[in-house]
Amino acid sequence: MEQKSIAVLTSGGDAPGMNAAVRAVVRAGINRGMRVYGIYRGFNGLLNGEIEEMNLRSVSDIIGNGGTMLYTARSEEFKKKEAQERAAEFCRNKGISGVVVIGGDGSFRGARALTAAGINCIGVPGTIDNDIACSEYTVGFDTAMNTALQMVDRIRDTAQSHDRCSIVEVMGRRCGDIALQTGIAVGATAILVPEIEYNIEKDVIARIVNTQKTGKKHFIIVVAEGVGGVRDLAKYIEQRLNIEARATILGHVQRGGSPTLRDRVVASLMGYKAVSLLDRGLGNRVVVMHDGKITHLDINEALDMERVFDEQLYKVAMSISI
Ligand code: ATP
Repeated sequence: MEQKSIAVLTSGGDAPGMNAAVRAVVRAGINRGMRVYGIYRGFNGLLNGEIEEMNLRSVSDIIGNGGTMLYTARSEEFKKKEAQERAAEFCRNKGISGVVVIGGDGSFRGARALTAAGINCIGVPGTIDNDIACSEYTVGFDTAMNTALQMVDRIRDTAQSHDRCSIVEVMGRRCGDIALQTGIAVGATAILVPEIEYNIEKDVIARIVNTQKTGKKHFIIVVAEGVGGVRDLAKYIEQRLNIEARATILGHVQRGGSPTLRDRVVASLMGYKAVSLLDRGLGNRVVVMHDGKITHLDINEALDMERVFDEQLYKVAMSISI
């Protein structure tokens, strides 16, 4: 029987744990007797032939590294049908019958397009924001949360020493999960997320004033990137309450760093699963976590799903951070 060839790429924003997923794809593929290629810089690599056959040692010593050894990119060109056809033709010429695409929603749209052009693709959710509706967990989320936690803990030390209010912006453009989880873990007085509309007087000022009454003198406000406005919020709090307030935007520090155990393990399981689906001749699927288990869904179905914010968790956070 002819040896099956598959490939793997990382696309969209990088996330810690992508390397662990790449490693799992390469090793699981070779273990099944396949040839496995690494495609560099997302879908761009298929358009300009940046591709290399991997062996077991190509992915040695990467499981603990942040970023992605395959590099990542956004490719506007790949959104065009002509480019998708050309990428599929490139794969056929190389004998590649399937591609594992590690990235976010946009990357899954690319995977769907490449499948439609004749090359089976399997998506693996890799993005720090946890903003993919179809999966309760995305590779990179745990590391990003823990980095945010460490950073806010440090800010808290200095806020406490100066009786200050610290307003910290964490990542999450459309999704407040990093803010919510970090906010709970640091005991934030207020947590602002894009999913829940807020009123500055009721949801920030009144909460600070109420905790002031019980003797508290330093406050942490965690704000998701999608809400933004942390500098203005700091100014408002200073003027309104006559306390010192400082804004910090954590930014890209949350993208880097060695992946946590959870990210390494989930990425390994998801990469392995993706290869087993390709081996079964399946395409247009995305590997997801559902009820804590690794399973898979049709990409169309996955992309149609709407994210559900954990309002109960938000309620709990608001009732104990007082
Ligand atoms: P992140 O969550 O980090 O933003 P993402 O995968 O959602 O990751 P995008 O920039 O939206 O990031 O998409 C990554 C790449 O996927 C795009 O640059 C493009 O190459 C491809 N892509 C996105 N949408 C489509 C589409 N409709 N058709 C074909 N390819 C697409």
